[in-house]
Amino acid sequence: MHARKYFFVITRDLNQVKNALIKGDIIALPTETVYGLAANVYSDSAVEKVYKLKMRPAYNPLIVHIAKPSILEKVAKNIPAKARELADTFWPGPLTLVLDKQVQIPDRITAGKKTVAVRVPNHPLALQLLNSLNFPLAAPSANPFGSISPTSAEHVALYFKNQLNFILDGGPCSLGLESTIIGFENNKPMLYRHGAIALDKIEKVIGPIQIKNQSDNKPSAPGMLSRHYAPKTQILIIEDISVALAQNPYKKIGVLSFQKFISSNTEIHQEVLSISGDLEEAAKNLYAALQRLDQMNLDIIITSIFPEKGLGKTINDRLKRAIKD
Ligand code: AMP
Ligand code: MG
Repeated sequence: MHARKYFFVITRDLNQVKNALIKGDIIALPTETVYGLAANVYSDSAVEKVYKLKMRPAYNPLIVHIAKPSILEKVAKNIPAKARELADTFWPGPLTLVLDKQVQIPDRITAGKKTVAVRVPNHPLALQLLNSLNFPLAAPSANPFGSISPTSAEHVALYFKNQLNFILDGGPCSLGLESTIIGFENNKPMLYRHGAIALDKIEKVIGPIQIKNQSDNKPSAPGMLSRHYAPKTQILIIEDISVALAQNPYKKIGVLSFQKFISSNTEIHQEVLSISGDLEEAAKNLYAALQRLDQMNLDIIITSIFPEKGLGKTINDRLKRAIKD
């Protein structure tokens, strides 16, 4: 029954999508991290549509997506040498840099800040589209504010199927986690958000990076809010999942584990993120697995902390923020 609607909305036709953007419409865009809701950076009305559709608070700035590193100066200025080094090393890729903004970048994009977040995405369709346009795209993740980021065109349709004219289908996201965000304060690099590039990989290029203190009050990045990336279902993070299963009073249980299937006497719905214990594979599967569990009307989703190394840090960060207060 839904298939008809999806058929009209989900497209692989770049031209259709390009024309929609030029006309001031917004579209869903595939990237290697998660799907975004994209608007012409210079169209106030299109940017407004993004905020409205996402129900995103106005204090939350958007990431600007550009076609290539060589046009960074159109968006940002006073670029620190270390930022340049990171752009040269990781773009196109899942690294967002927060830099001084150029005057022409509208305040609405940066939520009134003097800085702008910018990256070159590494997805063939996103790059083809950006290269065909003469404006950058502002694109936050294509989900209602605070909920799980979409990693496929179908996820976007679950959230917005009647409210978007086009979802550009680029297949499942190859990384499945949002970009890592690095800013500069007094020329010193700061981590604003853990993401799809592990912090140690970035530190190998520019040396130690300070981690920005989390604060719910006017956060530097909303990804730092203590509740974000969250399913509707309650989540429990515990050291030993089996212990929780033995003790718990719930009827319908979901289990999200890294490597192992958990045996249980009662029926549970399990998602194992990487049987071979590969954190990158686990990262890629995380949101899709959470989405599936969240669709099942479970009483609870039980999980445990992932190894606190590499992308495990990002996964743990997202799981902690997925807990209901
Ligand atoms: P999303 O695209 O929904 O994953 O969210 C974009 C992230 O980039 C949010 O956490 C924003 O707060 C962050 N961001 C965008 N612009 C800035 C900026 N100027 N300074 C700090 N963080 C930013
Ligand atoms: Mg988001």
